[in-house]
This record gives sequence, structure tokens and C-alpha cells, in this order.
Amino acid sequence: MTSRTSRIPGFRRLSIEERIRCLAEHTGLELGRIVRALEGGGLDAATADDMVENAIGTLALPFGIALNVRVNDEDYLVPMVIEEPSVIAAASHAAKRVREAGGFRAWVDAPLMAAQIEVYDVRDAALAVNRVRDAKGELLALADRVVPGLCERGGGAREVAVRDLGEGFLVAHVEVDCRDAMGANLVNTIAEALGPRVAELAGGSLGLRIVSNFCDRRCTRVEARLPVLALGDDGLVVARAIARASTFAERDPYRATTHNKGIMNGIDAVVLATGNDWRAVEAGAHAFASRSGRYAPLARWKLTEDDAFLEGRLEVPLALGTVGGALRAHEGARLALAILGARSAAELCMVAAAAGLATNLAALRALSTEGIQRGHMALHHRARTGKIVP
Ligand code: NAD
Repeated sequence: MTSRTSRIPGFRRLSIEERIRCLAEHTGLELGRIVRALEGGGLDAATADDMVENAIGTLALPFGIALNVRVNDEDYLVPMVIEEPSVIAAASHAAKRVREAGGFRAWVDAPLMAAQIEVYDVRDAALAVNRVRDAKGELLALADRVVPGLCERGGGAREVAVRDLGEGFLVAHVEVDCRDAMGANLVNTIAEALGPRVAELAGGSLGLRIVSNFCDRRCTRVEARLPVLALGDDGLVVARAIARASTFAERDPYRATTHNKGIMNGIDAVVLATGNDWRAVEAGAHAFASRSGRYAPLARWKLTEDDAFLEGRLEVPLALGTVGGALRAHEGARLALAILGARSAAELCMVAAAAGLATNLAALRALSTEGIQRGHMALHHRARTGKIVP
């Protein structure tokens, strides 16, 4: 357990230098490390050149800290990287209300990612499905042999599933526990190693071998429960409006898309700060939102029967890592993880999801009361001019 507090009154009124000093004091991180890691956006051109092809430099984005976030009785200073004004303020503000009501509760699935192995020109699909299923033990052992480092850390291949896609197409999934890694490279290694044997078993030709970003078995769930009075003097009116906005999103995919964008404001900013693959997170989140065949909100809000509490719940697949990927090289992302103090990928997922539920709550509250433009545009104006609109 850490003894950090996520409450730092007056943080927003400090200069950047003062905030960095304050952050060092609160996190116990060495001031020089923070300053060095943030230089040049946390990434120098030479490292960028090692990371991607044809690099010509780096492109910086604002790096801020959301305050007041409390998840499962622990406080977190949440690093957020985002170009849009008002998101960090919104996350901090909503998290403060939730914190005063006891904080967020969160749960996370085992970090399972699926290696997909496609086989085509399968003559007898039923026989092929049975043969691949029957070879489960052999396939799991073969998979574990190519990721020994992951197995040493308690991860590895867990399950084999096969689906007949019709017209001679078949796909095998090998579910892999990726522990603290996002896992795409690990899973791709397994997919390629197992491909020829799966095609042989299925009696067809080997097709694609790649991770699936629809990681619906790797979900994070987060809940918030606020007394309606915490939403102000007209709290019940506001809570009813938020619940109605949630129902609107359930009924209309045009609204659900914007509702989910408000959630991804919080999640993506944490994903980006911690050097994770936000395209993977986005692809997985929206596929999950569509899993019933109709695009739906990822978070829902409702009033308790006695009208005393507003309850929100977000469920989203999150494939995040605290090791590997860009984290190997990106000093700024490593700093973000150190500020957050997450000791595992599971913890990172829960905090990122809490940030998403917080930005969702803030957006719904603003929309249900004065409208989004007043607060949002005031901060936009500040971004352009340095002045607050009265
Ligand atoms: P990786 O290749 O760096 O593998 C993780 C490494 O960390 C492994 O060698 C593992 O043994 C080691 N490790 C150390 N401590 C660990 C721990 N506690 N738990 C688990 N592993 C531990 O990275 P990855 O996570 O396999 O792949 C992520 C990268 O793959 C990202 O950069 C992503 O952008 C990229 N990628 C994504 C896709 C996709 O999403 N479709 C496809 C290809 C590549």
C-alpha cells in the first residue's frame, strides 16, 4: 500500500516548476529525474529514431496530472497526456466528488489476449474443429515453449478455442495470460509458432496469424456511487438528468458514440501518458461497445430506487502493459508510470478506467446542467490567450 494522497489543494494555481517540485514531494520521486524525463517531451530524437522509421524528431503534447482519484481505497496521482483543454480539470473535479463518496471500486479480468490462427480451404470443418480441440494440450505446451520469459513470470497459454467461420474458413484462438505486458508481440510469436501445426490438424491452408484486439476476456470494470446531494443543491434534478442522458445513449448510437468519446477522453489520456498502444485500446473498446450488434454506451448511470444515490458503471476491455512495448525506450512514459505508482498492469487498467468514468460523469453533468460550452470554451479560451473568460 502507498501512503500517497491524490488531494493537492491549490495545485492548479502553481507554476509548472512549482507543480513539478510539489509532485516530487508527494511521490518521493527525485526532482532531477522528473525534470530530465520531461525534457523534450520525454523522448529525444535519437531514441525516436530507434523506435520508428524515417524519424525526423518528436511531437510533444501537454502532460498533466489528474488529482483526487481514489480507486479501491488507494489514492493515485494520474498522469494524463492530451491536447484537449478541460479534460484533466473535468477528471479531477468528478473524481473529487466520487472520492468524497468513498472513491471508485474497480475489478479487472485476467490479462488474456487471443492469438488468432486462420485456416482456409478446410474440407471437413466439423472434423477440423474436433482435431484442433483435441490437440489442446500439445498446442498449449508448444505455445509456452516460445515464450519462456512470460511463463517464468506466471503467464503463458491457457486455452484453445476453435470456430468454424463457414465456407472452408476456420479460426483457432489461443488465449494467453500476458501478466503485466500488453502482449501483442508475445501473442504474435505464439500465433506464428503454432500456425503450421493448427493448419495441419485442420487439414487446410494456413492463413493469418496475429493477435486479436477485440480482447473481450480482458475487461476492466469500475463503479462509482454518489449521494445525489453530492451533485449540488439541485442534486436530484442533476442526477435524474444524468440517468436520462445515459438512457438516451442506450437508445441512440449517435449519442452513444459521443458518450463513449467522453469516456475515452479519460482513458486515452492515461494510455498515452503511460506509453501504451491507444489504437489497440480504441479498436477493442468500440468493438466491445458493438458486441450486441448495436453500438452501445460503455458506461451507464442510474438512480437507486429510493432516489438517494446516482450509480455509474463502466466496463471496457483494456490491454495495457507496465512492461515492454514503448516503455522500453520512452523515459516520459516510464516517469508517468512512476508518478501513478501502479505496481501491475491490472492496477493501471483500473485507474485508467476510473479516469474514463470520471470524464464521462463530468461531461454528463455539464451537459445536464449549464451545457458543455461554458466550462469547456472558457478553458479553450485560456489555451489560446492565457485568460479565463468571465
Ligand atoms: P514486448 O514484445 O515488449 O513483450 C513483453 C516482454 O516483457 C516479454 O519479453 C516478457 O517476457 C517481458 N516481461 C517482463 N516482465 C514481465 C511481466 N511482469 N509480465 C509480462 N511480461 C513481462 O511487448 P508486448 O506487450 O508483447 O507487445 C506490445 C507491443 O506490441 C506494443 O508496442 C504494441 O504497439 C505492439 N503491437 C501491437 C499490435 C496490435 O495491437 N495489433 C500488433 C503488433 C505489435
